[in-house]
Amino acid sequence: MQGGAEVAVVGAGIVGLAAADALARAGVDVRCFEAAVPGDGQSAGRTRVFRHVHDRADLVELVSRARRGWDEWSELAGGALVGDEGVLFSSPDAEAIAELFTAAGVAHRLVGEDEQRRLLPILAPPGGPTLYDVRGGAIRVREAVAALVDRLGKRLVLDEVLALDSEGGVETASGSSRFDRVLVCAGARTPELAGPLGIELPLEIRDHTRATFRTRGEHARLACWLDRTNAYGATVYSGPIPALGGFAVGLATEDSDPAGSVARVTGYVERALPGLDPDPIETITRPLTILPWHPDAFAVWEAGAVLVFAGHNLFKFAPVLGDLLAEACRGRIAPELRPPDPQSA
Ligand SMILES: Cc1cc2nc3c(=O)[nH]c(=O)nc-3n(C[C@H](O)[C@H](O)[C@H](O)COP(=O)(O)OP(=O)(O)OC[C@H]3O[C@@H](n4cnc5c(N)ncnc54)[C@H](O)[C@@H]3O)c2cc1C
Repeated sequence: MQGGAEVAVVGAGIVGLAAADALARAGVDVRCFEAAVPGDGQSAGRTRVFRHVHDRADLVELVSRARRGWDEWSELAGGALVGDEGVLFSSPDAEAIAELFTAAGVAHRLVGEDEQRRLLPILAPPGGPTLYDVRGGAIRVREAVAALVDRLGKRLVLDEVLALDSEGGVETASGSSRFDRVLVCAGARTPELAGPLGIELPLEIRDHTRATFRTRGEHARLACWLDRTNAYGATVYSGPIPALGGFAVGLATEDSDPAGSVARVTGYVERALPGLDPDPIETITRPLTILPWHPDAFAVWEAGAVLVFAGHNLFKFAPVLGDLLAEACRGRIAPELRPPDPQSA
């Protein structure tokens, strides 16, 4: 065995990078192993929607903590990592979510169709209650990943982890090391590392496709758009990619058929977003890793020295997940990270 650092993090997607960064900033000797390209698994692409919009008070509170974390990361990166365009959320639930926002002190207002058109001139408003999440916005994915990679420096090691043991042994393509703690954040490949440790993750893994469309005119600022009304035959999430003059749109419902998803999204764009040219200029397909109890759920499982993390819709939470996972590596697994008790789920 070669000598190891204190903690090994497996995977340099946004979650592994956030955890390794939080550990390094806390003075822990950490190595983050990446088999391919940092940020090119589920974290790939140019944008993600940061939204406070969640249907549970605890998630609204957690994502508010994450928003403060994004502000800190932006300061460290020397530029905003979340845009200031806000998020429009149109849904029969918009007023109920506005109440959760009020209780949590999250900036918002209910907006009529004129204001929707002002915030998102490419939209044909579907009608119905619509909430404006003022401090939501489009996450600058590549800038965020690049800033974390930069901060980790030599602590990021391009090496594939082949196997783990519950005493902290890590076998990689180039050798073996032992660590006090190992944290697995390997996205869709997490089950193959966790299985031999006796952890059977209740994950559903399915492909998801998002398409990007060019705007017909020039717009200085376009809000992100979450449509849960089904008025146009689909529910979607979407947000701007200023560098491309584009707007990325994905189905909010689960899908596992890339060609079918692009066709449905294109049909949606034709009806709901007439300010976009409905010929996609870019598509991205990646596996999603979904836990059965909530679409925004995440959790940690433990096998000796190894912690295994999994979940879905994690990008927006990344700074707070980094802090929680760093704390877990140092011995305290916060209640937010515990899977629900099967008796109460
Ligand atoms: C198209 C799309 C749109 C999305 N939109 C949103 C959104 O709007 N808002 C939001 O919050 N979330 C969104 N998500 C979800 C979010 O992007 C993911 O939850 C998040 O990126 C997961 O990050 P991760 O670090 O857990 O996994 P990953 O990014 O997949 O990282 C895992 C890393 O581990 C590496 N790895 C795997 N096996 C090994 C091994 N054996 N050894 C070493 N390295 C290994 C992989 O190469 C990879 O780099 C979206 C996802 C997709 C695909």
